[in-house]
Amino acid sequence: MTAGGKLDTSILDAAGPRRGGALFGLHNQQLSESLAEFRLPAWRIRQLETALYSQRVTTLDSITTWSKDLREQAAAAGFRVGLPEIVETFRSVDGTERYLIACADGQTVETVWMPEGDGAEDDDSAPEPDDGNAPAGRTWTRAAICVSSQIGCAVNCQFCLTAKLGILRNLTTGEIAGQVAAVLNRHQAQPGRDRINLVFMGMGEPFLNYDAFMEAVRLLAGPMGIPESRMTVSTSGILPGILRFADEPVRPHLALSLNAPNDTIREGIMPVTRKWPIADVIEAARKVPLRPHERVTFEYVLLGGINDQPQHADEVIRLVRRANFPAKINLIAWNPGPGVPFAMPDPQSVDAFQQRLRAAGIPAFIRRPRGRDIYAACGQLKKTTIGR
Ligand code: SAH
Ligand code: SF4
Repeated sequence: MTAGGKLDTSILDAAGPRRGGALFGLHNQQLSESLAEFRLPAWRIRQLETALYSQRVTTLDSITTWSKDLREQAAAAGFRVGLPEIVETFRSVDGTERYLIACADGQTVETVWMPEGDGAEDDDSAPEPDDGNAPAGRTWTRAAICVSSQIGCAVNCQFCLTAKLGILRNLTTGEIAGQVAAVLNRHQAQPGRDRINLVFMGMGEPFLNYDAFMEAVRLLAGPMGIPESRMTVSTSGILPGILRFADEPVRPHLALSLNAPNDTIREGIMPVTRKWPIADVIEAARKVPLRPHERVTFEYVLLGGINDQPQHADEVIRLVRRANFPAKINLIAWNPGPGVPFAMPDPQSVDAFQQRLRAAGIPAFIRRPRGRDIYAACGQLKKTTIGR
């Protein structure tokens, strides 16, 4: 953008923040290109980066390392921070919070805060003791944030409420990383001091918005200070995405939404299986070079009477053994949603399923549903327009 240039931020923000007025979401190089007209030295750009991603300022005026003049010039040229804002909060009895976060084009996206962790990352590790550094009055010592990657989803899994929306649009890098920034600000959480896990398991299929998603990961793992080892991305099995992911130097842990013991059942509940069958997805996942002690997670949503029987568990055991890479299974009892024609599994079948996997030597964990009462649990996220 030039000093005299016209800037239609609404269009640019929807298309991606590269040439837009929003600075949040741009990496160092892009910041210096966007602000080229001001001929700023590299250290000025670094100050901006720190303000945007480490201090998470919400207005240009709060960039106190910049002179007032510079802040005013940037604002006059149409620049702004452009951090997405929480516009509505729903609080569960279990402490989970679901947010509607407003994007520049008036769309809202959903993000979930799960204090104490949601068990996704931590179910097989001992809880860390509180280091006593958390601000007084806080009720949490660690937390997970569930982040969305798209508004709606095109994958059309039959048991998922998000699928009902269809796909509205991809989120930009700034909107993906911005969800995290907005939630951290709300809770005055500071990565580095606080133990924050990220799960990319909100609305949408991250691997169908691959570039913006991975760019957000790099911002989060870089200047925002959240280690990649504290991030997990879940995919329904988008094979080309998994292959690209395998080559990423910085990447979250991988979770595959298996959800069925064979292709026949999976095709019935996840039509994406017709394109990429289970065996091909597993073959692609094998290409992801695992770090020491790292495992691939298989997520398995238990649907009453459909995939929750002992013979299904036996098939899953064979499938995981054939995969022959370090893996664990997270069992999720299906969370109901209006107009979604499935039944919750009965608690005995959930326990029996887990026991059968464990008896075969496969690490299996039951994920506690979080925030079911406020529609914040897995598969319950569905865009709700502000005020409705
Ligand atoms: N789109 C990605 C990530 C978001 S969904 C994916 O599908 O992997 C995150 C997890 O929630 C997936 O494992 C999905 O299978 C699961 N899920 C979807 N709907 C659900 C529901 N109603 N109850 C329980 N889990 C559900
Ligand atoms: Fe999309 Fe995941 Fe829901 Fe399937 S389960 S429709 S991939 S969000």
